[in-house]
Amino acid sequence: MLTLEVALQLVLEQTSPLTAQSLPLVEALGLVLAEDIVSDVDSPPHDKSIVDGYAIRSEDLSQQSRFEVLEEVTAGQVPTKSVARGQATRIMTGAPIPDGADTVVMIERTRLEDSQSGAQLVRIDSAACRPGQNIIRQGVSMRRGEVVLSTGSVLRPIELGLLAEVGRATVQVYPRPRVAVLATGDELVPVHSIPAPGQIRNSNGPMLVGCVAQAGGEVMDLGCCRDDQAALASKVDQGLGADILLLSGGVSAGVLDLVPAVLEQAGVNKVFHKVSLKPGKPLWFGVCTRDRRRTLVFGLPGNPVSSLVCFELFVRPAIRALGGHSELSLQPAKARLAEDFQHRGDRPTYFPAKLDTSTDSPNVSPLAWQGSGDLRTLAAANGLAYFPAGDQLYAAGSLVTVYRLPE
Ligand code: AMP
Ligand code: MG
Repeated sequence: MLTLEVALQLVLEQTSPLTAQSLPLVEALGLVLAEDIVSDVDSPPHDKSIVDGYAIRSEDLSQQSRFEVLEEVTAGQVPTKSVARGQATRIMTGAPIPDGADTVVMIERTRLEDSQSGAQLVRIDSAACRPGQNIIRQGVSMRRGEVVLSTGSVLRPIELGLLAEVGRATVQVYPRPRVAVLATGDELVPVHSIPAPGQIRNSNGPMLVGCVAQAGGEVMDLGCCRDDQAALASKVDQGLGADILLLSGGVSAGVLDLVPAVLEQAGVNKVFHKVSLKPGKPLWFGVCTRDRRRTLVFGLPGNPVSSLVCFELFVRPAIRALGGHSELSLQPAKARLAEDFQHRGDRPTYFPAKLDTSTDSPNVSPLAWQGSGDLRTLAAANGLAYFPAGDQLYAAGSLVTVYRLPE
């Protein structure tokens, strides 16, 4: 049976970033840049004041403490007068520094005074004032023509702000991969139904829809489908219009596990079936090329925990790779076992676990998991603890690898 590493490699070999698209800035959150971004402005665009105060010539303060107020400049205005000896311009945060001035004294260190002549005077209390104080020079953050973000950058809110600052209303990004989600199984009923004897609600559908959205995909929800060749074939046909088709159920060895055969009949070429992994062994993966469109197809096992583990280990990296991301997989962390743990099995295991990182020494407790249908226990998990193949007793305090589940 394939190892997890080889299987993941086989998946990633089939992925390359989707064709870049131009999107409005505010729709690009979480996406990856597909171009280098050059600034069209200096930032700041002018020497600017970082306080409310008075712009003066610093050398004047050694000779006098009373200054003539020339004008007031607020952010968005430009000074109209040069500051000469003995003069001051009242200036607000963000406003351009007037010619002649080389420092700004904070308003808290000044006091307006009456004068007989009608001119406004300001008394500046402090003698200590360096040239350049409270002034940010033009272009210190960035220069016009400079590359400020590179291809491959993930667009967080901060980057959206920076893109706006440099005038980019639209940006070239790798689009969200479109991911069709289809749950299969005769026993499944939709969430709003009361299950009849023998039936259960389709919990994988909404879970996988959530997983896809969380991983940065755009969901095409195909609902559930009975274990019926013709019905499956029609849904699969719909799903092959997406970049990724995710099915759950019907990939094991039961009499109604029709998914692999239906997929192959639809022209999906199998890359592998079954991985040495627990839970998640029956995973099926293939690729379909139609009208020059490629669809990666994953048949996930029906058990919810298996589905989730397979999603996180294989589907998330594929979605992220198509989206142009460089960080594909969940990142491992090390934590100490909170109690003894007996691992049994000949396959590497990803065990739902509770990771506590509130102390300097993170610890992890594998949960009392009742088989791979146990979503209830999974809901208490915030990580998957990894145990290599082989029976072994791990003593409390042993260091184990844990993959934190995304929130
Ligand atoms: P299968 O992979 O089709 O053999 O299904 C394995 C187990 O997962 C069975 O107990 C199914 O009832 C259960 N299962 C399959 N699909 C779903 C689903 N969409 N939601 C919840 N449980 C499911
Ligand atoms: Mg089934």
